[in-house]
Amino acid sequence: MNLVWHRADLRTHDNPALAAALRSGPAVGLVVLDPNILNGTSARRRAWFYRNVAALREAYARRGGALLVRSGLPWEVLPRAAAELGVHRVFAVRNSTPYARFRDRKVEEALPGRTAWSHGQYVQEPGEIVKPDGSPYTVFTPYSRRWWAAPEAELPEAPGRFPPAALPPGHDPGSVPDEPSDVPLPPAGEEAALGALEAFLSEGLPLYHQARDRLDGSGVSRLSCYFTLGVLSPRLAAQRAMRAGGEGAHKWVGELAWRDFSGDLLHNFPHMARSAFDPRWDALPWADDDEMFGAWLEGRTGVPAVDAGMRELRATGFLSNRARMVVAQFAVKLALLPWQKCERAFRDLLLDGDNASNLQGWQWSGGLGVDAAPYFRVFNPLAQAHTHDPGGAWLRRWVPESGGRPEPYGRPVLDLEAARRRYLEAAARIARAKPRA
Ligand SMILES: Cc1cc2nc3c(=O)[nH]c(=O)nc-3n(C[C@H](O)[C@H](O)[C@H](O)COP(=O)(O)OP(=O)(O)OC[C@H]3O[C@@H](n4cnc5c(N)ncnc54)[C@H](O)[C@@H]3O)c2cc1C
Repeated sequence: MNLVWHRADLRTHDNPALAAALRSGPAVGLVVLDPNILNGTSARRRAWFYRNVAALREAYARRGGALLVRSGLPWEVLPRAAAELGVHRVFAVRNSTPYARFRDRKVEEALPGRTAWSHGQYVQEPGEIVKPDGSPYTVFTPYSRRWWAAPEAELPEAPGRFPPAALPPGHDPGSVPDEPSDVPLPPAGEEAALGALEAFLSEGLPLYHQARDRLDGSGVSRLSCYFTLGVLSPRLAAQRAMRAGGEGAHKWVGELAWRDFSGDLLHNFPHMARSAFDPRWDALPWADDDEMFGAWLEGRTGVPAVDAGMRELRATGFLSNRARMVVAQFAVKLALLPWQKCERAFRDLLLDGDNASNLQGWQWSGGLGVDAAPYFRVFNPLAQAHTHDPGGAWLRRWVPESGGRPEPYGRPVLDLEAARRRYLEAAARIARAKPRA
């Protein structure tokens, strides 16, 4: 018997690890509740994960298969499960965050020669799109040129009925915790995700290129919470969108390239999980001010676009990309809050929270050296609201005290113009002092 270890691939469609396991005989699925991941995150994100594990278990059961759930450190749980069940080989879709690579190395050591890894978390795997000299890209545009030129993957068929796997009599499949969430969760599971994809392709995709920048997020797919846990295959989504065609499709699939670029950056430059991508920016005069941090996190800075974003995020677990850029730029460039602390808190509020995309998003917004984003481009949150929430409906919804107007209200925590000058002076000093190596 084989074991399919599901991690960020909580699906049966386009799952090359599952397909490979079933090709070589009966298989059971396994999800490990890893304390190193689950203890360090928020209740809403755990709840979202558990609901999707429960949905995967149902998807297995509908096909006559079994999905086991075990708690503990994967490098201890997997060898134990392999011995108990008489497992020949463990199949898994590769992940490439620093922790995932450490974890998977330890599992390989514990089960030498008995692990098999497949692609499938990204459209193009981290580490595979390289410059002609074999080195990694650090700027998105040339990366994306090669990304678009890469051949389309052939996707495995979704499995039909699973061949019966002989589990030991009285075997405990393990239970999926049912943790409450402080925000309403979207419908869980791959059927819901595939349905949401189809709805977006027919309704949202044709106008995506025009509507994607709205601060209220009404022009985007909201599929990210499914991509993050691999409930929806990004390869399948990209292929379906490209078949639909048009400018909207091209732009949308280009965003999946940004997702891949984020994974690629973290894979090649793991230091970006701790420090600025370009380490010169670590020298900015960070202001570790608890009051300012609390005001930003709770949406009471007195700057409507920032407060609307943080309040929406806290209340729903989602925020449009445009609003993410506005709140992150405010935190890093205007308030000079330590970006790592903000990135962490922000990730825990997002249902789609993802190490690679969040680190890329924060470092890009903060001008910390990711891509070609210049440090001197500082978003004006008033102008952003004016342009991307023209009637003020989004501001009125989340910050009624602003009256839907983008100008600061009440007693703002900082003077935007003075903060902009302070940042630009400090950043220019750093940029002048030491050219990037
Ligand atoms: C500060 C900041 C933090 C972010 N943190 C995360 C995060 O933790 N998890 C996450 O999935 N995305 C993150 N993003 C990227 C992006 O904002 C979200 O993926 C997007 O808003 C999700 O909404 P959607 O599914 O409707 O996207 P759509 O506009 O419909 O795009 C389709 C898909 O493309 C991918 N995508 C879109 N934009 C980006 C981008 N800029 N970078 C990487 N992938 C992208 C997502 O998987 C998304 O679901 C962050 C961006 C910023 C600026």
